[in-house]
Amino acid sequence: MIIRGCGTRKKGGLYVMSELNEEGGGKPIEDFLIDPIIPALDQKPFRSPQFFQTKDKIWHILIWVGKQFYPTPIHFIEEAGLFGVSRRIPKHAPLYLLTPKKSKMLFIHPKAFIKNANAIFNKSQYKCPKNKTHKETETCIGMHYALYAAQNNDNVLRINEYYNVPIREKIPQQDAILQIANKIENKKIQYGPGIFMIVPITSIHYIPNNNESDKEVIEKLKTYKVPSFLSTADYSKKEKIN
Ligand SMILES: [Zn+2]
Repeated sequence: MIIRGCGTRKKGGLYVMSELNEEGGGKPIEDFLIDPIIPALDQKPFRSPQFFQTKDKIWHILIWVGKQFYPTPIHFIEEAGLFGVSRRIPKHAPLYLLTPKKSKMLFIHPKAFIKNANAIFNKSQYKCPKNKTHKETETCIGMHYALYAAQNNDNVLRINEYYNVPIREKIPQQDAILQIANKIENKKIQYGPGIFMIVPITSIHYIPNNNESDKEVIEKLKTYKVPSFLSTADYSKKEKIN
């Protein structure tokens, strides 16, 4: 059983998936990070995933990652690195709009963008996962790893009560972490919403209730362009529908 920050999958739940294993292209999680983070400072929190279309007529989904489940963007990123992405979506969502692999899920986190990054970090104090050289006003995802290490004095990221991962090579040296920790104490970090990760939509999973209510959902799934499956909450089985 996979237990995510947002819990386990539920019967009757419809899930949009990005399988980042071989099935999904087998690329490392770094390839899906948006770095520098794109600020979205005016964006208010929202519950239902937002569908939007790009100029090429492809539809995508913007998803708000709640900080009650994922305290920082790196908790979400590392979980996706372990398990891929499985995101519950309301049954009335227009999933027929989606195109396999071209449609994407974009993730926004309320604390992704660091407004005063230049007051906290200098270039030697974090390691960019994409090896970019950043401008002073930019937020690098590597800053979140360095902040976590400084705030928790730990080289292990506790994703939730079940899973830990070593904080990868993204961490700067211990003395740099101490310097950051001192700065955090003196200067409060100013966070704002930002987009930090984009993944391709590879499939849709439905966990049946095993009653009459399944029929309507299954009929809809048959019409979707994205490969759709009946699955189990624990991912142990799946049966293709379309
Ligand atoms: Zn970076």
